[in-house]
Amino acid sequence: QTIAITGGAGFIGSHIAEVASDRNHVTVFDNLSSGYEANIPEDVDFVHRDVGSISASDFADTDIVFHEAANVSITQSVDNPEYDAKENIIGLIRVLEAAKNADVERVVTASSSSVYGSPERFPQREIDRQAPESPYAAGKLSGEYYCQVYRELHDLETICLRYFNVYGPRQRNDSPYSGVISIFLDRATNGQSLIIHGTGEQTRDFIFVEDVVRANIRAATVDLPERVAYNVGTGTETSISELADAVESVTDRSLEREFDSRRSGDVDRSVAAVTNAAEELGFSSRVSLEEGLERTLQWHQRDS
Ligand code: NAD
Repeated sequence: QTIAITGGAGFIGSHIAEVASDRNHVTVFDNLSSGYEANIPEDVDFVHRDVGSISASDFADTDIVFHEAANVSITQSVDNPEYDAKENIIGLIRVLEAAKNADVERVVTASSSSVYGSPERFPQREIDRQAPESPYAAGKLSGEYYCQVYRELHDLETICLRYFNVYGPRQRNDSPYSGVISIFLDRATNGQSLIIHGTGEQTRDFIFVEDVVRANIRAATVDLPERVAYNVGTGTETSISELADAVESVTDRSLEREFDSRRSGDVDRSVAAVTNAAEELGFSSRVSLEEGLERTLQWHQRDS
């Protein structure tokens, strides 16, 4: 098959490119705003392109599009909501329009668990209340609605994956927006303290990037399910303090912990209900936090 990946020079997109290029012809479209050309596997074609200028000719003969390109910074979305909407809403519409016009079979899009806002019940189910608390989350949720519309109106097959907290090799740790695991491992390998915002009792559902790739491949190949949006998480809830313990254990170091003020907008708990993804996409996560941390640590050590 012929596959296009927007944002394929980034963390998650480059892992999808790696796996998909085993058996398919893959082209990555990326403007390198937060990704790196070095992330793109050798056997993959690279087009240096902003999604804002993607057109049907880019997707000629393409069967599947994985849309990963986005402004990934919640803080930036608060500071500059128009920029976020241009990247994440208009960018997605561009991709959907080009895919429709090029007769692409299916578009699999990255959404986010942030669409739930501060959840009221756990684990979070797809049908639960969605109450975005940032322009980023509002953009991701409206993206899901656009995917629904393209399904209904144009028979374009669309699936949106609500990623929970993704971690793994190639996640950037050079910005305040990167994942806590990447930051903790980086500081741990440098013998620095772990900075915890708030009590450390807040929980997250950490999913290893290889599992996220498998969810994408399932979403691309399964018979089109009824639902448009699916959670992609492990169903396991880990507190930041438990994560710090696990990082100590995997790095074999005893690390100081510094407590800082709670960050505004941080939710207290987050954990995915995984039944729908299991039953309707045939996806369940496989990599434990211990194994995922070990593999991410190996990458940090090789890369630093
Ligand atoms: P990333 O920053 O590593 O990857 C994003 C990629 O998109 C980068 O390579 C960047 O250069 C590219 N890009 C950004 N804007 C673009 C544009 N206008 N045109 C072309 N390319 C553009 O981030 P990531 O963590 O790999 O995120 C991938 C997707 O997953 C995003 O849609 C993000 O919102 C979503 N997501 C990620 C997480 C997570 O935990 N990492 C959680 C929920 C959702």
